[in-house]
Amino acid sequence: MKTTPFWWEEAEPQHGERSFDKTTCTALIIGSGYTGLSAAITLAEAGLTEVVVVDAMRIGEGASSRNGGMIGNSAKFTLAQASKRYGEKRASEIMDDYGSSMSFMIQRAATLSDPIDLNLSGAVVAAYTRKDLTKLREMRGRLASENQKNMDILEQDKVHSVLKTDIYRGAMVIHGQGTIHPGKYVQALARRAVDLGVRIFTGWRFLGARQDGQGHVARLQNVENRDSIEIHTDRILLGVNGYAGPETPWLRKRSIPVQSYMIATEEMPFDLLERLIPQNRAVFDTKRVLYYFRRSPDGKRILFGGRARFRTSTAEQGAEGLRGFMEHTFPETRGVALSHAWLGNVSFALDFCTHGGRMSDGIYYVSCCNGNGISGQTYLGHRIAEHMLGRPNTDRGIIGSRFPRLYFYNGKPWFLPIIGTGYRLLDKAARWLD
Ligand SMILES: Cc1cc2nc3c(=O)[nH]c(=O)nc-3n(C[C@H](O)[C@H](O)[C@H](O)COP(=O)(O)OP(=O)(O)OC[C@H]3O[C@@H](n4cnc5c(N)ncnc54)[C@H](O)[C@@H]3O)c2cc1C
Repeated sequence: MKTTPFWWEEAEPQHGERSFDKTTCTALIIGSGYTGLSAAITLAEAGLTEVVVVDAMRIGEGASSRNGGMIGNSAKFTLAQASKRYGEKRASEIMDDYGSSMSFMIQRAATLSDPIDLNLSGAVVAAYTRKDLTKLREMRGRLASENQKNMDILEQDKVHSVLKTDIYRGAMVIHGQGTIHPGKYVQALARRAVDLGVRIFTGWRFLGARQDGQGHVARLQNVENRDSIEIHTDRILLGVNGYAGPETPWLRKRSIPVQSYMIATEEMPFDLLERLIPQNRAVFDTKRVLYYFRRSPDGKRILFGGRARFRTSTAEQGAEGLRGFMEHTFPETRGVALSHAWLGNVSFALDFCTHGGRMSDGIYYVSCCNGNGISGQTYLGHRIAEHMLGRPNTDRGIIGSRFPRLYFYNGKPWFLPIIGTGYRLLDKAARWLD
């Protein structure tokens, strides 16, 4: 079993330029995942020259080439909950941002020259309890009638039409959502950015910046030989998500990094998998500690993911828990060998909302995908870029929303094992009471 992402078989992250020959640029973007690359594309498309992306690892080597490739656009809270937190106007703008992300991502994908294995056969939200099914039904009922048409509620006896398992109490099918190959997608974004004149440097770590008139002087360090350089720039964007280090303390106090694990099976008979997960839809369940799964783009493997562990662990350790749940979900997969097991970091905010904006030192950021960011971070990369360009009415919704900080926390989430255990107990209790 390999401990690298299955996606890297076809799209292993590549280095960008290694030797740094620039001392000035108009925009310096830290992070070459969906956020950073999407922002770079929007800036370059707007005609900004000298846009530079820097990553400490290879291009897209963070979560963007490690995820499940399941694309959707749902917020982890309702409009009513958001209104209490942010006020009605901001809340409705935030919901608009979530609602716009998927269609924006599809538009952006259409501008890419490389294939990304886009499959829009739909997503299945599998209800773990009857109460969860009721909540899904209520959520659908609150939507405008044209949006309700995109969703079907399935009672327990109909679940087999979309998922061959007996463990769920019902499901909601969301049409128009689906899957991509996440590694190919991040590579295609990088190619588009480079075609537009963006320079991508890898193996360089951002160490911090000082203000310099209207702009900044950023310090970068070569990861291998530790040489440091300075670069003058008009704007800086941090798109570091779950990989925020001590050099970005303001973000570290507000974002909680969480490891997420995935496994891929060896190839299995296509017909068997077509029976288990027909049409290769994306599936995720309604548990607090959720599991999500799909088939590989060729339909011959199951890819299974979730937050299998809450202590810092290895990919192999995470794989044990995931395999157990996969076999519980689909007894037909018992004994199937795993070809890959891997992990990556996502980041969560205290209010489960993604945030973006500008810090007091003038540096822009987008952070906290809350576990779900293929379309969201693509869209917010674009939205923050529009804000960086000074376009009107861009300081709304997620951009400029209040980003709550955690007290007694410096970036090391010591409390995660306690919260994880609590969530698991609540999931078990909910099922027991069901
Ligand atoms: C296992 C897993 C499964 C997931 N499944 C899904 C899914 O099915 N659907 C979905 O929508 N989302 C999913 N996600 C979440 C999704 O992958 C992320 O939301 C998204 O990739 C975040 O993109 P990003 O550009 O913000 O961050 P990343 O892709 O994580 O990029 C951040 C980059 O910043 C760089 N960096 C950090 N600090 C510095 C520094 N100081 N200097 C230089 N570079 C720095 C890192 O090297 C990294 O490359 C999953 C994530 C994981 C880990």
